[in-house]
Amino acid sequence: MPAQILDGTKLASEIRAEVAAEVQTLAASGIRPGLAVILVGNNSASEVYVRGKVKSSKEVGLYSEQHTPAESISTGELLALIDALNQRDEIDGILVQLPLPAQVDSKKVLLAVDPAKDVDGFHPMNVGYLSTQRPGLIPCTPAGVMEILRRSNIPVAGQEAVVVGRSDIVGKPVAMLLLNQNATVTVCHSKTRDLPAVCRRADILVAAIGRAGMVTRDFVKPGATVIDVGINKVTERADFDRFFSGNAKRLETFLAKGSTLVGDVHPEVAEVAGAITPVPGGVGPLTIAMLMANTVKAAKLRRGTRIPALTR
Ligand code: NDP
Repeated sequence: MPAQILDGTKLASEIRAEVAAEVQTLAASGIRPGLAVILVGNNSASEVYVRGKVKSSKEVGLYSEQHTPAESISTGELLALIDALNQRDEIDGILVQLPLPAQVDSKKVLLAVDPAKDVDGFHPMNVGYLSTQRPGLIPCTPAGVMEILRRSNIPVAGQEAVVVGRSDIVGKPVAMLLLNQNATVTVCHSKTRDLPAVCRRADILVAAIGRAGMVTRDFVKPGATVIDVGINKVTERADFDRFFSGNAKRLETFLAKGSTLVGDVHPEVAEVAGAITPVPGGVGPLTIAMLMANTVKAAKLRRGTRIPALTR
């Protein structure tokens, strides 16, 4: 039986509707959560991401503003901008779009964001809150992964979870969130021995690797839930055929655009998995939705208001 497709686009729109309702409730108390996005220079991929974040903020009713300093900005100048945003009460969330130019000390910049406004959840203070299960801001993509599981009624407690990837942005926080929800968690990386065998133990397999289609059917226990975080661009016809042979609709788009997206999981895995997130339309849409939720959560945490179930 083919896997259940976990529709991230649909789940993200549910979350956005819930966030919009929260924003309306807060408006009755005179609060309008505000998000400031900093986009340095002219990285076209970053511009697309930031445009999506600003558009989504407007749709859910958040106040949002965008800062676009020049590529040549110094660490000191960026720190001054962050300090100014830290001081402003109407700004609840500050997001510094990565990557930053080489001359900027990224670690110093991310440390400068007030942890109470760190809607990306990258500040060591929030990392600590997550690992000690205190209320804090959780990175958006990992939070999105957990929302997919929760909203799809996939049990986590007591399950074997295997996370492939140990980045600070995805792998580690996903592993911590799964552990906090009582899964038995294994974290894999490039030095893991016999990766397919370790992955086959998983009831829940999360791939956050950055390698197109690396997780093939021999990595997956029949019936397992597979969450594919990877986003990889395929431009070669040979690669396309390796992943999507016989998929006429996909071929049409590939030929028209000259590229298509594939996750870290080979599409053939849908034939063995019990449930799987597609790429695109799986984890990706959840990331921006959780940023919206995090901004509302930051507004509430900063004012000592009860945290909604959605973002707890
Ligand atoms: P990183 O490059 O920071 O981390 C990749 C991880 O995968 C590392 O821990 C690395 O191991 C591990 N890895 C690499 N090759 C192998 C291998 N052959 N076998 C086992 N493990 C391996 O990537 P990110 O975590 O930032 O991103 C991962 C993927 O998720 C990317 O495709 C990215 O585009 C996507 N992404 C998607 C988002 C979304 O919104 N859907 C958001 C963020 C990321 P080691 O530590 O040993 O080097």
